[in-house]
Amino acid sequence: MNIHEYQARELFAKFGVATQPGSVAFTPAEAEKIADQFKEKIVVKAQIHAGGRGKGTFTNGFQGGVHLCDSPAEVKELAEKMLGQVLVTHQTGPEGKEVGKIFVGEAVDIEREMYFAILLDRATSAPIVIASTEGGVDIETVAEKTPEKIVRIGVNPCLGLMPYQIRQIGALLGLSGPLLKQASKLFSALYKLFIDCDCSMVEINPLVVTGKGELLALDAKFGFDDNALYRQPEILAMRDKTEEDPREVAASDFALNYIGLDGDIACLVNGAGLAMATMDIIQYAGGRPANFLDVGGGATKEQVTAAFRIILSDKNVKGILVNIFGGIMDCNIIATGIVEAARETALSLPLVVRLEGNNVEAGKKTLAESGLTLITGENILDAAQKVVAEVKKAA
Ligand code: GDP
Ligand code: MG
Repeated sequence: MNIHEYQARELFAKFGVATQPGSVAFTPAEAEKIADQFKEKIVVKAQIHAGGRGKGTFTNGFQGGVHLCDSPAEVKELAEKMLGQVLVTHQTGPEGKEVGKIFVGEAVDIEREMYFAILLDRATSAPIVIASTEGGVDIETVAEKTPEKIVRIGVNPCLGLMPYQIRQIGALLGLSGPLLKQASKLFSALYKLFIDCDCSMVEINPLVVTGKGELLALDAKFGFDDNALYRQPEILAMRDKTEEDPREVAASDFALNYIGLDGDIACLVNGAGLAMATMDIIQYAGGRPANFLDVGGGATKEQVTAAFRIILSDKNVKGILVNIFGGIMDCNIIATGIVEAARETALSLPLVVRLEGNNVEAGKKTLAESGLTLITGENILDAAQKVVAEVKKAA
């Protein structure tokens, strides 16, 4: 799960991470009111679940999701241009994201922009700090052209981020004296936040040194471990479903493991490994999967019906492959769910079913007696080839 920058700033306040004052606005009038309290320049930032806003473009041609303004009146005018518009950045995909809120803050005078992140490193199964002196909107170019300017420091989760590591990172970033003291406080606070909130990522870009010699976190991109959300009610309350793929939101309401993809062959499978293999074999047979979907070992008829409904709500889907190897899963539950959902949605797309295992005879009988037109797959490859052929035929 991700959160907005303004929400991340609420966590900053709670954990003592230094940043600039400011808050979120949903209307131009609110934006102007917040701006009123700042004496000098004001920063206005589109709030979407994607980075690269500074260099983004609105679909109406307006440039940039991050702006500096000189007066509250200018903030209001800018808010009118941004709110309700769609911003496209290199992280949103070409469809972009609608801006429903903006952050209005006291702009700071930046002397130096750095990069600081804590991630969960899959290779070591431990947190890792990534830092660079070259922070800011061009970090991707730094990573590509001068990767030596990005340092990685592994953290032992039992010990946490140690004082010597903080000094090491500080030195790498060229921070000394009072700035190193501030860095020590800021890095420790971020590490505590990372652990306490079950984050998978905390990215501060830019981390800045201001003209007044302060070290501040000016941007925040946070990711959280979905499997830990059950014990993070405060974080879960920050979820913004409008930022998520509606197919995935519907799937999570039914506790289905669903990930939307951009192909045209939907698949419904039990077991994550079999679902991965099914996507591979669709590709191998010359097709493109529209999703990953694992209904799990103990799916109910309601879940299967919901899964089918989600698959069919995807306008790109041109064919469906059901691949079930019933171990714990009862094939007849799958069959009943398919029949129910197909009736409810007046299914007209080609449907290929490969059922095997626990209670398969009853499942096949349910399908045969349902009157549904479906194609039987003898095995996983045969099923994939059949669904690909059907989709090609229809096209
Ligand atoms: P992103 O493009 O989505 O990563 O958005 P950021 O919040 O990182 O803002 C992009 C860039 O805008 C930063 O790298 C800064 O250069 C600039 N910026 C953001 N806030 C301020 C500010 O308060 N003062 C100044 N001078 N520049 C800012
Ligand atoms: Mg940034």
